[in-house]
Amino acid sequence: MRRIVFFNIPAHGHTNPTLPVVRALTDMGHEVVYYSFGDFKDSIEAAGARFMTCDGFDAGDVDGSRVANDIMASTALIARVTLAMDEQVTRDLRALEPDVIVADSVAFWGKLFAQKLGIPYVCSNTTFAFNKESAKVMGTPLGELLASLIKLPLTGRLLKPLRDRGYPAKNGLSIVQNDEDTPTVVYTSKLFQPCAETFPDGFSFVGPCLRPSDGVVEKSGRPMVYVSVGTVLGGQGDFFRNCVRAFDDGRYDVTLSVGAGTDIAALGTLPENIHAYPRVDQLAVLRAADVFVTHCGMNSASEGLWFGVPLVTRPLTREETGVANRVEALGAGLRLEGDDPENIRRAVDAALTDPRYREGAKRIGDSFRACGGADAAARAILRVAGARDQ
Ligand code: UDP
Repeated sequence: MRRIVFFNIPAHGHTNPTLPVVRALTDMGHEVVYYSFGDFKDSIEAAGARFMTCDGFDAGDVDGSRVANDIMASTALIARVTLAMDEQVTRDLRALEPDVIVADSVAFWGKLFAQKLGIPYVCSNTTFAFNKESAKVMGTPLGELLASLIKLPLTGRLLKPLRDRGYPAKNGLSIVQNDEDTPTVVYTSKLFQPCAETFPDGFSFVGPCLRPSDGVVEKSGRPMVYVSVGTVLGGQGDFFRNCVRAFDDGRYDVTLSVGAGTDIAALGTLPENIHAYPRVDQLAVLRAADVFVTHCGMNSASEGLWFGVPLVTRPLTREETGVANRVEALGAGLRLEGDDPENIRRAVDAALTDPRYREGAKRIGDSFRACGGADAAARAILRVAGARDQ
């Protein structure tokens, strides 16, 4: 029996793919302890892990908008979070003596705990894997990269309190980037991953790990369109109002997942063919859907492709744009060129009527299913856990 400790951030997109892996590990008789946040407690426990809370560690205010793009702000935040957790979590980990730590690629504190305590570490990567080659395709703006590099020596200073506590933290980049031989679980296929051939064998492309779903959505006979902007983005009332106008002629059944931050009442009275919800059972809906209009979060796009559903892509962030580019390059969907009702309708009509999009989506879906999924991820983690014995 191995003991495996997970660390994650409070985000569905980063947590969901790990839950079937937890289930696979616990079904094999291993023990999983999972550090995360209160909103995720029930689903983590349902997957068979012991939940440990990261709530209540005071890391000060977080300006999310700066953290994403500013290496100084992100380094300072990582240092604060790690220091806030340091005493409690290192004490826990010394008692738990895990065989391996699995940390999300942006739950950097998990990696830092592993390094400080000399515990083998696996990176859980819910986006495309990143290296110099894939960055070129996915488009990391040169200016931004340069600005980060210029500030790099300064980030070293921010990390002194971490080094004083025994963390081998050199600078911001050494924390946010892994070296090439870090064992990494990537929840996609080599077909979908840009530049897959440039990653070494320690990268396990296990395919999307979908949660179990036995929900059934009845079809009326009309083509079914599903629209979602994911779980993070709010304030999308205008976009969803345009979707209502795009489909108010009743030719399609339309399901809108508007997210918690968009007011359904403000969409007005909906025609009988359109239904809006704050959140849906996305896998059940996708199993029935004929087109998916998606923000191209890695999970949503992968789930749509898993079911062979052509995508109309509406990316907003750089990461989502990288996913949308890949969908389009592999012929599994097309970009929404503007949010007005005519564009929405035109793109959905094209995705429905041109069979090449469905074929492209099916090809990627087939590549996902051939990857081994949660069992393959569990085996990759156990290989690292067992490496110390050899
Ligand atoms: N999701 C869901 N119901 C919804 C909307 C989203 O279950 O109504 C799930 C979806 O299946 C996916 C996750 O939430 O697993 C969203 O992750 P993604 O990476 O696509 O986007 P994010 O929400 O992180 O932007």
